[in-house]
Amino acid sequence: MAQVNTVLGPLHPDQLGTTSLHEHLLWSSPGWEFSPEAKQHFDPPRVFEKIYKDLLDFKAAGGSTIVDVSGIGIGRDIEFYACLSRYSGVHVVACTGFWAERKILPYFAERDIDYHTDLFVQELTQGMGMTNVKAGVIKVGNSGNRFTPLEEMLYHAAARASKKTGAAIITHGVQYAPKQAETLLAEGVEPSRVVISHLDAAYALDLERDKELGRMGFYLGYDHIGAEEPGIPYAMPDKRRVELVVEMIRAGFLNQIILANDTNGWSIGLVHRGTPKHTFSHLLRKFVPELMKAGVTEKEIHIMLVETPKKILPF
Ligand SMILES: [Zn+2]
Repeated sequence: MAQVNTVLGPLHPDQLGTTSLHEHLLWSSPGWEFSPEAKQHFDPPRVFEKIYKDLLDFKAAGGSTIVDVSGIGIGRDIEFYACLSRYSGVHVVACTGFWAERKILPYFAERDIDYHTDLFVQELTQGMGMTNVKAGVIKVGNSGNRFTPLEEMLYHAAARASKKTGAAIITHGVQYAPKQAETLLAEGVEPSRVVISHLDAAYALDLERDKELGRMGFYLGYDHIGAEEPGIPYAMPDKRRVELVVEMIRAGFLNQIILANDTNGWSIGLVHRGTPKHTFSHLLRKFVPELMKAGVTEKEIHIMLVETPKKILPF
């Protein structure tokens, strides 16, 4: 029976509950730990308390599971995640894989497709890094202004690892959404194992593209919810996101829509993205009520936040 890999071990899909599929408990740029400021940026009790409170608030708002899509080298800290999950009672799924090229460590960038396929498979089936905690999804990304050869190779490796294990793939880099789809399909991945993320980035809105990806069978991520601050390139008012989601539901894609905040519990040594109020619970406390005001039913919310993650995460 297919199960979900959480940082505390396997979970029955029925226990996932309300799930946010695209968040970051920790987020950084590789190398921060070698800086003289490292201790200042990452004081474990302080960082723990902040994220722990965010997770408790998410739980109090009805949330049950968070998927961390930070990946290798940009903050992912399995033991820290396990502690957070154990004490908060929120299920945490961590990922294997990478963000776009500029946050991929040379150690990994210098290796070939077979290495990366094996790396992803190993992290999904044996354990991430030096732990025996298994990854629950594969993250792949591409830059905003180009799809580099390294990134393309990693999409192919992710596809192969997904086919070997059954694990789902979550993407980053919406400017190249059609190329993401094409690259993964070329390896024979089922579109129903892929979430194309960030379709609600302000600079790349295109409902016709979304509907086409939906018709192909991909999951559709409207996962920048709460990114409203002027000055962030992908930000726009949530009101616009409500319109996008409502239109996609009306167009028949209810069962493929993913909702998430893509927010950070703690940004290590980087300027925190968004406002301090934009935490994991925003989706449930602020966005869901707006959707309901726009006519989305409780049953439809349940499908997007509970039933769909239940189809994506188990393998
Ligand atoms: Zn993200």
